[in-house]
Parts: sequence; structure tokens; C-alpha cells
Amino acid sequence: MMCDVGLIPSDTGEEGGKQTGQRMTHYIEKGGRFETAFKAMPETIRLPWTSGGALLGIKGPKEPKAKNKIKYTCAGGCDVNVWGKPGLRIACGECEELFEEIEAD
Ligand SMILES: [Zn+2]
Repeated sequence: MMCDVGLIPSDTGEEGGKQTGQRMTHYIEKGGRFETAFKAMPETIRLPWTSGGALLGIKGPKEPKAKNKIKYTCAGGCDVNVWGKPGLRIACGECEELFEEIEAD
């Protein structure tokens, strides 16, 4: 069914990859139905983060993305850490110091 619509199963994501397996992806058949239909779509309804993005040279969701959670640690030396979105002002319930942002995962 995927081949019918021009999306060729491939375990490597490249031409020549195995078409079956446990961890699969696909590539877009050159001149296939998917590519043709995708290119015919008005730009305003394209979803660049979907598999068609490669045709347009648009970066997809596999690119490293900005951190959305950062580590905060108590500035009062309580050795307490919390994780949250950037830009929070968090106060420690023990020593009432503010938490500081730490660069970490
Ligand atoms: Zn503290």
C-alpha cells in the first residue's frame, strides 16, 4: 500500500533499504504519487514537519530542538533540584532563597 502511494518502506530511509523489519522508515519515491500530490498542494496548507518536509528542504522534527525543560537548583545550598520550563522564578520552601537556572539535561 505504501508503494502504491509513492512512499517506499525502507529500514534505512534510503533507496535500497530492506522493505520489512522491526524498525522501519520510508523514503519518498521520485516522481511517485506522494511526491506529485505533495508538490501540487498549495503552500499554505503544507505541514512542513511531516514527511514531505524533505522535498522542500525544511527541517523536520528529528532535528535537535531547543530545550523546553531546564534544571533549577536552590541558591541557598539545600541541594534541591527541580525541572521546569525556562524563565521561572521558584523560591525554596526550606530557606526561601530563589532557585537558579542550571545548564543540564
Ligand atoms: Zn533552599
